Amino acid sequence: MALIVHKYGGTSMGSTERIRNVAKRVAKWVRAGHQLVVVPSAMSGETNRLLGLAKELFPGTPSDAVCRELDMLASTGEQVSVGLLSIALQAEGVPAVSFTGWQVPVRTDSAYTKARIESIADERVRGELAAGKVVVITGFQGIDDKGHITTLGRGGSDTSAVAVAAALKADECLIYTDVDGVYTTDPRVVPEARRLRSVSFEEMLEMASMGSKVLQIRSVEFAGKYHVPLRVLSSFTPWDIPIEEEARSGTLITFEEDEKMEQAIVSGIAFNRDEAKISILGVPDRPGIAFQILGAVADANIEVDVIIQNVSHEGKTDFSFTVHRNDYARTMEVLKTQVLPNLGTDRVEGDTRICKVSIVGIGMRSHGGIASKMFRALAEDGINIQMISTSEIKTSVVIDEKYMELAVRALHRAFELDQPPAPAQ
Ligand code: ASP
Ligand code: MG
Repeated sequence: MALIVHKYGGTSMGSTERIRNVAKRVAKWVRAGHQLVVVPSAMSGETNRLLGLAKELFPGTPSDAVCRELDMLASTGEQVSVGLLSIALQAEGVPAVSFTGWQVPVRTDSAYTKARIESIADERVRGELAAGKVVVITGFQGIDDKGHITTLGRGGSDTSAVAVAAALKADECLIYTDVDGVYTTDPRVVPEARRLRSVSFEEMLEMASMGSKVLQIRSVEFAGKYHVPLRVLSSFTPWDIPIEEEARSGTLITFEEDEKMEQAIVSGIAFNRDEAKISILGVPDRPGIAFQILGAVADANIEVDVIIQNVSHEGKTDFSFTVHRNDYARTMEVLKTQVLPNLGTDRVEGDTRICKVSIVGIGMRSHGGIASKMFRALAEDGINIQMISTSEIKTSVVIDEKYMELAVRALHRAFELDQPPAPAQ
C-alpha cells in the first residue's frame, strides 16, 4: 500500500462528466489498495470568471485590502471542485471527505494573491486516511496566521499538491493534466519533439519557459527542496487503463543524475519571446559602470537576464542587457532619466524583436564542446548570435526573433532529440 497524491487540473475537472471520470480513476487506485489524497483545481475557466467579475467592480490596481477579497473570491472555485469530487467519489462507492485550505489547515504568509505555503498540518488528513477515506483538498488556497484566506498565485494548485505530498511524505505525487508530459521542446514548433520519460528537477527549472506551461514553477522548486517524487501525466487516457501502465506514463521528475532513465547530454530546447534587449553605446570603460547602470535598473525592481559588455576602444565600450518585454518601456525611462545623464552618452538602443533560445541538460556538466556544437548548428543556418549566457546546465543565445523557430528546429536536430537516447549504463 502506498500513499499517493493526485492533482487534477481545471480541464480534467471541467464538467460533471469529467469529474466522474476523475472519480473513477481515483477509485481504481483505491481498489488497488492505495491511500489517496486528491488536490483538484477549480473547474476550467472558473478562476478567470471570478476574477473577471471582480475586475468589473474594481477596474484599477487592487490595494492590499482588495487583494484580500480577491483571494476570498477566487478560492471558492476550488471549494466547488472538492465538494463535487467528493460527491462523485461517494457515488462510486468510495468513502471520501473534502477539506478547504483552512480546514486542513494549509498555513501561508499573508501575501494575498501570491502567498507562500509555510506549513501543512497532517493530523486531520492522516486521521481520515486511517478511517479508509479518500481525502480531497482544495488546491491554490491556504490561510494566514490571522485567519484570512489566501491564494498561491495562478496555477498554484500544482504547488498545493506537491506541498501536501511533502507534508504527508507521500510515495508519489501524480500531476494529471491536459498534456501527457514534458517534451524535448514545444511540439507545435518541432513536430518530432519527443516526450521525456524523465527529466531532472534542475532541468525542469531551467526549461521554465517550456516547463511552466506544464507545471507552476514554484511547485518544481518545492519538489526539489523536499524531494517529492513527482510525475506529470495525462488525465485524458481512459480511466480504466491498467494501473501499472498509468504509473509509468508521462514524465518523471527525478533528483539524482544516476536515477535518470535516459542519458542525453542535452535534454531539451527552451525558447521565449518575452525579453527585450537594450544597448548603451559609448559608455566610459571604468570601474563602477555596470553598477551605475544595473543598480538603477535593480532599484526600479526590474530584473535583468543576459548581460554583455564589449571590449573597449579608446576608453569607451558598449553595454547590453535584456529585461522582460513588459519592463522595456520602464527600463528605458530609468536609463534616460537616471543613468545616461551621468554617463556622458545619450546613445541607447532598444530591440524588442529578439528571442532567447536555450539548450538544457545536466549532461552538460560532464561533457565539453556542447556550446560549440550549438553555435555551429546556428551558424550553418546563417543565424547570427547577439548575446550568449551560460550556466552549469544551460547555454542560451539571444537572436533575432524571426529566426526563433528555425533555431529551435536546427538545435533539436543537431542534438538528435528526436531519437530516443541510449539507455543508461
Ligand atoms: N484555479 C487556479 C488558477 O486558475 C489555480 C490552478 O488552477 O492551479 O490559477
Ligand atoms: Mg495548471
